[in-house]
Amino acid sequence: MATTRASLHTLGCRLNQAETSVLGEGLRRKGFELVDFGQPTDLLVLNTCAVTEDAERTARYLIRKTLKHSPHAFIAVTGCYAQTGMDCLKQQTGIDLIVGHQFKLDLPAYLPPPNELRKRSVAEIHHTKTMERGDFELPHFADSDSTRALLKVQDGCSAMCSFCIIPFARGHERSRTLNDIQREVEVLAARGYREIVLTGVNIGQYAHQGRDFCSLLRWLDQAADFERIRISSIEPTTVSDELLEFLASSKKFCPYLHIPMQSGDDQILRAMNRRHTIKSYINLIEKALVTISDLGLGTDLMVGFPGETESSFQNTLAVATDLPFSYLHVFPYSPRPGTAAMRLKQRIPSASVKKRADLLLDLDRVKRLAFHNKQIGKTVSALFESGTRAAYRFGTTPNFTRVGITDSEDFRNQILQVTITAATDRYALGHIVPSQQVNCAMVAR
Ligand code: SF4
Repeated sequence: MATTRASLHTLGCRLNQAETSVLGEGLRRKGFELVDFGQPTDLLVLNTCAVTEDAERTARYLIRKTLKHSPHAFIAVTGCYAQTGMDCLKQQTGIDLIVGHQFKLDLPAYLPPPNELRKRSVAEIHHTKTMERGDFELPHFADSDSTRALLKVQDGCSAMCSFCIIPFARGHERSRTLNDIQREVEVLAARGYREIVLTGVNIGQYAHQGRDFCSLLRWLDQAADFERIRISSIEPTTVSDELLEFLASSKKFCPYLHIPMQSGDDQILRAMNRRHTIKSYINLIEKALVTISDLGLGTDLMVGFPGETESSFQNTLAVATDLPFSYLHVFPYSPRPGTAAMRLKQRIPSASVKKRADLLLDLDRVKRLAFHNKQIGKTVSALFESGTRAAYRFGTTPNFTRVGITDSEDFRNQILQVTITAATDRYALGHIVPSQQVNCAMVAR
């Protein structure tokens, strides 16, 4: 009997990636044969993003593109855009199933068995305006596409930053039960993963049965059998002294923080409804740098928020220049329907937004090069990925330096000592320290 192919694609954040892996596992269990996205397929599951207008446009384009090479493909759409843009998506021809956030991980259950998969004249919709608030568990534990496994611990956000659609797309903050986290941690360790990345929307707000984020980290530090645990993006107001001291003392947690700043100007931060001032942000970063040695530090910066004058942008540029970030993620403001910022009048001309974004992107390259240069001469551990890119094999260090080596051997999923000898603005370069024992017994996919 012919197999029924399914491909999945993710737009947006790491949390979406983690959830796509869970959906992929659900499809596999249902009997679909997973194929790479872009290949001819019988089913596309598109996990969308709504953070920018561009992400929504890309989702609609990818649906059309898939239907060009696979005209009979059943199209299932989920994710943030399916939640916030359901009315628009149901007008688009070719979509067979739309699943909002409340039911996202149940998507495989809404599909017919593989041999009965047929396109529909009207899309079936599973969607609620609001989402349940209780703590949650996941239906499956999936494999990751990379050597780092993503572990979802939290969902939703109640912060209501005025530019952000995420609270509307994912609902209020809620946390994953500790028992469920424990079960997945055991499965991931048994599969041979060396590093896990904790993901969520506002992970610092983790709260389950009296356990806060810091106590979750302490528990993972003791209970989880991984060499490395990394925290993904965390809001500045949720980074406590206790958290910094814990990260400094832990042998497993990576010296790495990604703390969104968004703007370096207090007036803009207030208009964004951010809960930090620029002074409190700088204090936090200075404390983090003093407490955690060899810290890798990233941030998000938004340009072109309504009312951002040339002088408020210069404030952002100045703070971003002064603080020793290892990289910057730069986002132009994108008006999102339903958000408070949509009502703000002083829109910034797109030419100014582009100019400001370009200046910050130039600074990002300078920051990356400086950070990589600082690593030269150090011998560090690197967790290697499979394959080669631009003639290098790449690994990642605990402080998130990407390091390339030229060895012909594949060190996939191995943690090896590497001496860093050179730097570019995209990665550091080095060579592995000779005579290390390479453990090939367990290799995660
Ligand atoms: S903290 Fe603000 S920017 Fe981050 S997800 Fe919540 S509302 Fe959006």
